[in-house]
Amino acid sequence: MSLAAGRPYLAIPGPSVMPDPVLQAMHTPSPNIYEGEIVDLMASVSADLKRVARTEHQVAMYMANGHGAWEAALANVLRSGDKVLVAVTGRFGHGWADMATGLGAEIEILDFGLKSPVDPDRVEAALRADTDHRIRAVLFSHVDTSTSIRNDPRLLRAALDAAGHPALLLADCIASLACDRFEMDAWGVDVAVTGSQKGLMVPPGLGFVFFNDKAQALAVGRNGVSRYWDWTARANPVAGYQYFGGTSATHHVYGLRKALDMIHDEGIESVWARHASLARTIWAACDAWGAGGAMRMNVADPALRSHAVTALGLGDDNGTRLRQWCERETGLTLGIGLGMVPDGDPRAHGYFRIGHMGHVNGHMIMGLLGAIEAGMLALDIPFGPGALSAAAAVIAKG
Ligand SMILES: *Cc1c(COP(=O)(O)O)cnc(C)c1O
Repeated sequence: MSLAAGRPYLAIPGPSVMPDPVLQAMHTPSPNIYEGEIVDLMASVSADLKRVARTEHQVAMYMANGHGAWEAALANVLRSGDKVLVAVTGRFGHGWADMATGLGAEIEILDFGLKSPVDPDRVEAALRADTDHRIRAVLFSHVDTSTSIRNDPRLLRAALDAAGHPALLLADCIASLACDRFEMDAWGVDVAVTGSQKGLMVPPGLGFVFFNDKAQALAVGRNGVSRYWDWTARANPVAGYQYFGGTSATHHVYGLRKALDMIHDEGIESVWARHASLARTIWAACDAWGAGGAMRMNVADPALRSHAVTALGLGDDNGTRLRQWCERETGLTLGIGLGMVPDGDPRAHGYFRIGHMGHVNGHMIMGLLGAIEAGMLALDIPFGPGALSAAAAVIAKG
């Protein structure tokens, strides 16, 4: 017998759980795309997305996943032969660097490994060494979803400023937006990219690129961005079709409108605080389990951990066994380990990730932790006692 029947719970780090009101908002006939409600909605979601990213500047929307948003941002500011500095803290940093390589950029990678955040001193040194200012852009992941390391964008801004370097600062906020505090303007980020399917609680399919005047000036000053990725008209449309460079993503826009209403009704500060509390709930359980077993969170220092995803090691093939058991027996789907060992290495089965982004709350996280503990019990994976009590204590304190 399995106990999986009932409402399933997808706890992978994107796509995330979709709220019923978002799904219901999407359950509607096709609108006229040329005038009327959908055109107004596109203007309103643009404005409210900027509130989530804490920017007064501009946003361009694309029918794309995160990879598309990566490429969109780069296509506007880079030209073939430009140099790019990439501060890498996991698989997704390498992925973005690879997109830049594909656009003909010359890449310098600063790799900080899989357990440490960006060291701003190394970034500053690399920028100082670039005496003729060939580096156009510095790329980093706010949160790298493979390692669950959270970088502080302010430290990268400070490194650029200390070096007196004019390069743009580009942040990958795909896993972090509407989960971890992010202040694009106040923190001096020039370009930020995100997608619809993580903290924004909408199905995969929309990519967003926020950019400030400095980024816009560079993009405009250098002709050559390919037509489809050009952010100019998307951010400043004179006709409704320009928001998406063609037919608009009608149903995603309906869903996004509802999701943004939910975020702003709760309040972005409360959304961030909820993610922080739920993350601490998970960490309390993981600490207790780890005290009597092999479970380890990838990032030792809580101050450097994402509030949206937690990467864990369990040793042997226990990550995969646990994931499969939880899905089969309880209806809970956990995330695979990603990028902790080379692709194809069987040790990958020792890792897994918990996604806790977007539409998640206290009882879901307690249920998730209970299912994990049941799985370890069923599979004879050793663990320390008291994890669920420790988690409950965090929830109780709020
Ligand atoms: C999910 C994610 C991506 C990739 O997004 P896709 O929609 O899968 O293309 C890139 N960067 C980060 C940090 C992510 O979490």
